[in-house]
Amino acid sequence: MKEQLLRLIYTIVPKERVLTDLAELYSYSFDASFGGYLPEIVIQPKNKVEVADLVKLANEFKIPVYPRGAATSLSGGSLAVEGGMILDMSQFEKKLVIDRENLLAISSPSVITSDIQQKAEEVGLFYPPDPSSSHVSTIGGNLLENSSGPKGLKYGTTKEYVIGLEVVTPTGEIIRTGGRTVKNVTGYDLTRLIVGSEGTLGIVTEAILRLIPKPLARKTLLASFVRIADSGHAITKILSNGILPSAMELMDNACIRAVENYSPAGLPIEAEAIVIIEVDGHPAAIDEEIKKCEDICLLQGATSVKVAKTDAERDEIWKARKMVSPAITQMGPTKISEDATVPRSQIPEMIEKLYQIREKYQLNLVVFGHAGDGNLHPNIITDKRNIEEMKRVEDAVSEIFEAAIELGGTLSGEHGIGILKSPYMELELGSDGLLMMKKIKDAWDPNSILNPGKIFPQPGKLKVELT
Ligand SMILES: Cc1cc2nc3c(=O)[nH]c(=O)nc-3n(C[C@H](O)[C@H](O)[C@H](O)COP(=O)(O)OP(=O)(O)OC[C@H]3O[C@@H](n4cnc5c(N)ncnc54)[C@H](O)[C@@H]3O)c2cc1C
Repeated sequence: MKEQLLRLIYTIVPKERVLTDLAELYSYSFDASFGGYLPEIVIQPKNKVEVADLVKLANEFKIPVYPRGAATSLSGGSLAVEGGMILDMSQFEKKLVIDRENLLAISSPSVITSDIQQKAEEVGLFYPPDPSSSHVSTIGGNLLENSSGPKGLKYGTTKEYVIGLEVVTPTGEIIRTGGRTVKNVTGYDLTRLIVGSEGTLGIVTEAILRLIPKPLARKTLLASFVRIADSGHAITKILSNGILPSAMELMDNACIRAVENYSPAGLPIEAEAIVIIEVDGHPAAIDEEIKKCEDICLLQGATSVKVAKTDAERDEIWKARKMVSPAITQMGPTKISEDATVPRSQIPEMIEKLYQIREKYQLNLVVFGHAGDGNLHPNIITDKRNIEEMKRVEDAVSEIFEAAIELGGTLSGEHGIGILKSPYMELELGSDGLLMMKKIKDAWDPNSILNPGKIFPQPGKLKVELT
């Protein structure tokens, strides 16, 4: 990093919040995805003025800037792929105000998502987006990845709950989008454009989030199926019968076995699949709904259905689902985690295709995910030192995306595009669709300094490269 630039950075942010030591830079060279990229400098801004001044400086010197939350991205969102400056937004001043009267939360980007959920619940309100990483990821990262989780089925994704933002633009202006009103149709909806833009259109410095009343009660069941196809049919039957559970999660046999090896939860290891279903709402309504779900599962071939009678039993069921990620990492050192998503009715077909891909490439591929909204997580457990196997993984990943798109689906249900899925963007959007997105990016960021290398494919790169 040029001496002159460093001196100017120190006029904006004190030295103790500027990291240039190689060991410190290494700890910022990776996220929860794949690959390592060393930044030249890491800066920990505390307020919007510091962020704006740093972005202006970066424009002057044409230095790439990568906003970064807790670095739990599974698509390489905050990696410094072209060197340059990481802005560690997790150290931003923490502000969280719950406005109970207006059912709002006003939050700075550095707040941990579960803190918002907890503070809202303390006053009888509810912030539904629930990524499994909610105890570590920041709300800033959630907004920019448009995260969600099991509750996405009934309550939608993060974008449904963001009504206003404060943003530092890629040229260093501080703007506000949306506001505090539930209804706001003034001009273009820049809030929606920025949510999910993966840090390529602006740096979020404050968010106004919509809260809803906390559901009064919930009921959970666990159904086991000898045939995974039957579980897919049960899911689609429940939804077409007018029941909208708050969550419907699927785990295939490999996941069940991995969990039982890692932290035994009494799951049926012979089952090809288990489905966890949760309904929430008024106590009288949910009793009837869970009964209907139970009946449909049995009709569709479930070998057993267990409805949790106590909070402890419910927690036990959810613990099994939450154990999947740590359990499968015991199967190998490298985990390639995908989130190809298909229309709900295509879930059985997609599962079938995933198993064909597993056979064809002879890989350790497990399937779990938010089957109720079509968002499956095929995970390939491998070892990045095995170059021959990694080549097969690359081809398998390409086929997973092709299959999802053929079935009317999408590259990503919640993890974003980042660097890992950018080669496939044209496959889903077509060249004109992708070009329109690129025009927006170029208009916002004329010097192409904000989170370069993300979302848009490198010319000629038609598939993911993991070796
Ligand atoms: C074990 C595990 C489970 C997970 N489960 C889920 C899940 O269930 N659902 C789900 O959706 N995701 C999940 N994820 C992925 C990840 O947690 C989410 O994408 C999360 O939203 C990232 O938040 P973060 O704070 O770590 O952001 P980072 O990973 O640091 O950044 C994510 C993106 O946001 C940008 N960014 C961050 N902060 C800002 C800001 N203030 N302004 C502008 N851009 C910013 C970055 O540049 C990057 O593009 C999981 C990850 C792990 C490791």
